[in-house]
Amino acid sequence: MKFGGTSVEGATAFKNAAGIVFYRQALRPVVVVSAMAGFTDALLASVQQALAVGFVEGAATLEKHFDRHRRVIDVLLVQEAQRIQALVDQSRVEITELLKRAASDVSAGADPRRRKFFEDAVVSYGERLSAAMFAAVLIENKVLSTDIDARRCIITDNEHGCAAPLMDHTFRNTQEQLQPLIESSWVPVLGGFIGSTATGETTTLGRGGSDYTAALVGAALEAKEIQIWTDVPGVLTADPRLVSHARTVPHLSFEEAAELAYFGAKVLHPKTLHPAIERDIPVRICNSRAQEGGSTLVVGETKKSPQTVKAIAHKTGVTTVQVTSTRMLGAYGFLRALFEIFAEHKTAVDVVTTSEVSVSLSLDDTSALPAIVERLEKHGTVSIEEGRAIICVVGEGLRSTPGIAARIFSTINDINVSLISQGASRINLTFAVEEMRVRETVARLHKEFFEGSAGEDAIRELNDLGAEVSA
Ligand code: ASP
Ligand code: MG
Repeated sequence: MKFGGTSVEGATAFKNAAGIVFYRQALRPVVVVSAMAGFTDALLASVQQALAVGFVEGAATLEKHFDRHRRVIDVLLVQEAQRIQALVDQSRVEITELLKRAASDVSAGADPRRRKFFEDAVVSYGERLSAAMFAAVLIENKVLSTDIDARRCIITDNEHGCAAPLMDHTFRNTQEQLQPLIESSWVPVLGGFIGSTATGETTTLGRGGSDYTAALVGAALEAKEIQIWTDVPGVLTADPRLVSHARTVPHLSFEEAAELAYFGAKVLHPKTLHPAIERDIPVRICNSRAQEGGSTLVVGETKKSPQTVKAIAHKTGVTTVQVTSTRMLGAYGFLRALFEIFAEHKTAVDVVTTSEVSVSLSLDDTSALPAIVERLEKHGTVSIEEGRAIICVVGEGLRSTPGIAARIFSTINDINVSLISQGASRINLTFAVEEMRVRETVARLHKEFFEGSAGEDAIRELNDLGAEVSA
């Protein structure tokens, strides 16, 4: 069970999260927890401040966050209060010491690798303190619990700031550390996001990495389920800011979840899902604010939903680029030459469509676009459209179900659509519209696929499907 930063942002959130674990002790959970919301950012900023101004100034920026920890201790802990407060105080001393070392390290200012070494060491206190506090809250509630230093479980390479776990080593250590506790009915609590190299240097798995820790631990222990407790009701049929009656999708395949991830739908990063996919462990996204509300279960394969469409995601702020050239006709190496230009400018390309004489593609990051266009113009005529949005309709079986594309496009037949792509995966249909029309597009598609009597049936069947799987 993984709880993110907002699920442990203060005393109320901590208590709520601990309550969720309390009532599930019989399932023999392992808890993975993030730093209190905002603390990771603050810790990183303190390193910057220490390097730019001085360690005293850097350390001072953290005071209000230590106070936040103290308030949680005051509200929730009695017997454990002194021990945990001592830990917070000790951490404050150690962090200040690290900031001092960073500030006086000649290479930390200039060498990003060195800076990241210090950042990892400092930032790890966020998750470690959360884990200690979480375990203490459980102990106060008579749960057999202890916090475990995640750096003894998650062993990584030395790529500070976004280290990659060494799987065998990590699995072995995680089993050794946790299995005996679980077998004697203890609830271990680990900080997410952090790890260590084989030689004992602290590392981190990249921002948002606690989900990844949860997946690694779940995979190592062959858990029945990996639960990501967050502050949204799972994955929704559409963005609730656009469609107020969007509903939780009860059931997604790993592949569908990966497609949705790009759209910032509050889904998991595909990297996070990977250890779970390999061992076929379902991942459930649960809402810690409303436990009885919906949750989304992500599993290896799902049955086709009756309506085929499971969710409609979108992304605004997209720019499309079209390169047209008759030289492309029958030529080889043309696409490579084009994509090399994007690669050299470290610009990610998202949707791509081609015809015999033109290539269209979409980007979100346009910072290098002027330089890219200058080079693209050597290959053909370039036209740019800003202010576009990508709509992505996701559902297992989209391609094999006749009539879906026709339904989608007839629903929005008065909206100008470009960059249609259905090729790459059999589970999505992606296209671009003008940003101004995105709300209308999503709302109309949602109505077509999820509302009205056919839509209601679809939701009901989706729910049944979800219930079947979770049973
Ligand atoms: N605390 C870390 C972050 O903010 C890791 C996480 O929350 O998953 O990125
Ligand atoms: Mg987080």
